[in-house]
This record gives sequence, C-alpha cells and structure tokens, in this order.
Amino acid sequence: MKCFNHEDRDAVAYCQHCGKALCRECAEKYTPCLCDDCFEALWQEQQRQKQAEEEAWGAQRREELEGTVRGFMIRALIGFGLCLVMLPPLMEGVPLLMVLVQLLVLFSVPFGWHLISDGQARIHVDLIASVGFWVFLGFAKGVLSFFVGVPALFIQLSEVLRAKTELDAMAVQK
Ligand SMILES: [Zn+2]
Ligand SMILES: [Zn+2]
Repeated sequence: MKCFNHEDRDAVAYCQHCGKALCRECAEKYTPCLCDDCFEALWQEQQRQKQAEEEAWGAQRREELEGTVRGFMIRALIGFGLCLVMLPPLMEGVPLLMVLVQLLVLFSVPFGWHLISDGQARIHVDLIASVGFWVFLGFAKGVLSFFVGVPALFIQLSEVLRAKTELDAMAVQK
C-alpha cells in the first residue's frame, strides 16, 4: 500500500483517526500518528472546547460578581432603613457629629452581620439547638455586628468596587 500523500512511497503506518495509509515522513509529522486533515480537525475541535470552557467560566464569574454587587446593595438598603427608623430618637439633644457617627455605625450593622455570617459559614458551626439558642445567636450576632460593622462596610465596599471594575472589563471585552 502507498502513502495517501505520496503515491511513490510505501505506507508504514495508518492515521489513528481515519485509518489513511501514511509513509514514514507523514507518519512522523504528529504524535499520535495522524494525517493532516485529522490533525487540523482535532486541533480545531480542541480550540472550540477551550473557548467554550472559557466562556462558561466567564459567565460563572460574572454571576459571582453580580451577586457581590447585589448583596452589597441589599445590605446598604437595610442599613439605610435602620438609619431612617432610628434617626428620630438619635437626633434628640446630640451634637451633629455624634449623630453622623451613630448613623454610620447603624448603617454598617448589616455589613457586620454579613461578615459574621460569612465567618460562621466557613467554620461550619453545625448546631442542633433550641429556638432559644437561635434567638440568643441572633442577638449575639446583632451586638457583634455593631462592633465590626464599620470596618466590614469598608471591606465590602472595596470588594464591590473590585467586582464592578471586573464586570466593566468583561463588558468591554464582549
Ligand atoms: Zn486521518
Ligand atoms: Zn507520505
């Protein structure tokens, strides 16, 4: 049998994909042993797969980032609501600066709560407990949220800004 590409040469091997006969020179061109057509087709298929994977990863990442932004917005809304509810009693006979500080602390409570919940999820606290325990846990979290709220707000603000930047970069790429 002769080589598919060279009529004057004896075949020494076959394309592993389509079975075409190949001479020594043609057979040694690729590893594994493939003819030009099959190599090209397989390479293109590989590129397609790679591209599809990249697109899937991009979509997943975008969803993640959008979730970060959404979560931040919800927390800001809750914080704003807390401020609205608590503003009248806060205003009584307190200097303006103190009011502002207290508003910042109040606004940050949901961010502190989120930070603690995040940490809690990471430690995997699996407790089968009574309703009383959950009420206590909620209360403790609420108190703790007051203390970590403001730093948590700034941490999460920087996260959301990073997410926005990456989302904008993705939008430009598209
Ligand atoms: Zn082939
Ligand atoms: Zn050949």
